[in-house]
Amino acid sequence: MSLHVDVITIFPDMIRSYVSESILGRAQTLGYLSVTAHDLRDGAHDARRSVDDTPFGGGPGMVLTPGPIAAVIEGANDGAGIARPLIALTPSGKRFDQAQAQTLAHLGSFSLLCGRYEGIDQRILDHYVDEEYSIGDFVLAGGELAALVVIEAAARLIPGVLGNEDSPVAESFADGLLEYPQYTKPQEFSGAQVPPVLLSGDHGRIASWRLAKALKRTLERRPDLIEAKGGLSEADQALLGRIDELEGRQKSD
Ligand code: SAH
Repeated sequence: MSLHVDVITIFPDMIRSYVSESILGRAQTLGYLSVTAHDLRDGAHDARRSVDDTPFGGGPGMVLTPGPIAAVIEGANDGAGIARPLIALTPSGKRFDQAQAQTLAHLGSFSLLCGRYEGIDQRILDHYVDEEYSIGDFVLAGGELAALVVIEAAARLIPGVLGNEDSPVAESFADGLLEYPQYTKPQEFSGAQVPPVLLSGDHGRIASWRLAKALKRTLERRPDLIEAKGGLSEADQALLGRIDELEGRQKSD
């Protein structure tokens, strides 16, 4: 399984630089991932290679003009075109989440369009773009960071990309819950001890404690996720009632 991503941006080096490091760099070296950053300015035909213009109807700032974007999408420059589906990063898109990362990881290839300034001419979104994703309810200066978020979230789910095959299975959102708390050495840090259950060697009890902590944390921090699962099952509730006992402590904190 491998993934190819075409990115359309006025800052291709931002994309190239980030994806060449760490897990994404390794994934590319091993052939699990390839990312091609297309310079939007290659689609511009005037001497200044301009890609933006003032908004019709007035208002502040500039808007990415459709011509250069269409030229890159259609491969007018190198004849190669870009992979489909084409996803635009916009604050008004569908909220990107782990389930979508999972879907993208299995697609084999897709493309990302990064906006800048006040955004992208609506006719490009209407006629060329298959989907719009937002990475959250805030406004960035450009789509590049959002594109990198999408690429990294999808690429790390390709089997082999992470060193440990179990990692994407047990983590936050994989099963509709936030992850349980993690601890590493030392056993005591500034007077704070690691929960005794983790030192017990009893794998069944550790698994039960972790699930109970994941349930408790999700209930406290993201009740919407519990609701989306259809509420707590009887088994979940029973487990929550046993947290202190599982942890090996007398009283809850
Ligand atoms: N005027 C626009 C914001 C433009 S921000 C508006 O009010 O909706 C410039 C570009 O940054 C956008 O075109 C988009 O590509 C990117 N961007 C900003 N915030 C984003 C977010 N939350 N998710 C994804 N992309 C975002």
